[in-house]
Amino acid sequence: MDVRGRLFIGGAWTAAADGAEFTTRDPATGTVLGTCAQAGQAEVDDAVEAARGALADPAWAGLPAAERARLLWRVADLIERDAAELAETETRDQGQPLRVARTVSVAGAAEHFRYYAGWVTKIEGAVSPVSFPRTLHFTRREPVGVCALITPWNFPLMIAAWKMAPALACGNTVVLKPAEQTPLSALHLVRLCAEAGFPPGVVNLLTGGPETGRALVEHPGVDKVSFTGSTEVGREIVRASADDLKRVTLELGGKAPSIVARDADVDAAVEGNVQGALLNSGQVCAAYSRFYVDRHRAEEFTEKLAVAVAALRLGPGLSPDTQMGPLVTEEHLRRVDAMVREGVAAGAQVVTGGERADGPLGGGNFYRPTVFGAVRDEMVIAREEIFGPVLPVLTYDDEDELAARANDTRYGLAAAVWTKDLSTAHRLAADVRAGAVFVNMPPVPDPAAPWGGFRSSGWGREMGSYALDVFTETKGVWIHHG
Ligand code: NAD
Repeated sequence: MDVRGRLFIGGAWTAAADGAEFTTRDPATGTVLGTCAQAGQAEVDDAVEAARGALADPAWAGLPAAERARLLWRVADLIERDAAELAETETRDQGQPLRVARTVSVAGAAEHFRYYAGWVTKIEGAVSPVSFPRTLHFTRREPVGVCALITPWNFPLMIAAWKMAPALACGNTVVLKPAEQTPLSALHLVRLCAEAGFPPGVVNLLTGGPETGRALVEHPGVDKVSFTGSTEVGREIVRASADDLKRVTLELGGKAPSIVARDADVDAAVEGNVQGALLNSGQVCAAYSRFYVDRHRAEEFTEKLAVAVAALRLGPGLSPDTQMGPLVTEEHLRRVDAMVREGVAAGAQVVTGGERADGPLGGGNFYRPTVFGAVRDEMVIAREEIFGPVLPVLTYDDEDELAARANDTRYGLAAAVWTKDLSTAHRLAADVRAGAVFVNMPPVPDPAAPWGGFRSSGWGREMGSYALDVFTETKGVWIHHG
């Protein structure tokens, strides 16, 4: 694989004017996979101008809704046509096992385009019962305008689709800025949008790092920023967009609690929590990452959890028997390892894992899945997002203490409850403050269900009809008929 990625601006592929480039590597081997253009201020200006121009272009603004729907549907078909190639690209660039790339990333991206293709012809206004005499009031749902879509490295293709599909369904134009660690699947997706027939300027792609993202967020020609990434960068984006009061939606970090009640089916809880914690090597914002287990079941749960994670086959995503791939970069692996060291120093006990994998895997960013016992609430490993294969187990004595402990965090993205008792499930689902609570299952996104967080996990919701709300402005029209 030797990709040479360029920028896509106003319907044409182009290099950066100053020739700046960056490389992207295979996290399983460290090999360079390709070189991408690094967009600077000039290209940010050009892309925003192209997107603004396309907003007013009758080829887009005047396109009947049914035609717009067809374009989105076509993208879904093209994603499926290229599914094998896209999955391989995602696995090479990001590291996720090929099965995950196929069944989660590629399938999820296609589903999103198809789901929002269905919405295009159903974005309705309403007639409002105003009391002003002899007056008709109705609402129009209009596009917000130029949307900057900034995505992270953990599910590059799927998260780009989470943003592009509803933004385009609502008639916006977009400038996509994928993460610099994993730009390759976005290049392919944008090629498919061009092939589907979106008019020039409707979909633009700028590859580059934080500077590119910053220039985009600060650009006065951008109306809305839809960002997925870290909470720290989310805060920077809010500050940078404050002058123009841009519309901003944020999908940020998480530290999802997973509660295993005394009556839980421990074997099922272990299986579900391994999936919930270790999909994509734990590089999932909604990953279960702190476990509150009833003291009477804690030993059994911890032992079985440790056996299950230690049995996972670590390896390159492209190997058919791999169950867990590498971490995305060497830098990220060091960060995960530093958090593990911090846990050890604070007195938590490593039950299994706790180190980088060596031997034949030593050349890649492989980290052994790690279970910690003897964890206390105040420890950093129980409070901060690690975004890696680390599972801290805590215990509880009384169900009444659980909601307060689960809620003692700045995050609120997801939570899980494992129980056979309906009252426990309902009580905790109501009391835990999180954007999604999963009972007896791992966390899964679905285009029909809202996705997003309370508190420092973000602003707004993606998916379902919720994404239509954040990608449209509501206009009221008053008509006095005398
Ligand atoms: P990151 O915040 O470092 O980077 C995300 C994107 O923002 C990248 O494209 C990056 O180039 C860009 N960026 C960096 N600084 C910027 C700035 N100042 N202005 C504009 N853009 C800037 O995040 P990451 O390390 O790529 O991803 C991991 C984080 O993403 C984790 O915290 C994870 O929880 C979060 N995440 C959240 C969700 C969700 O749905 N809530 C989903 C996936 C990942």
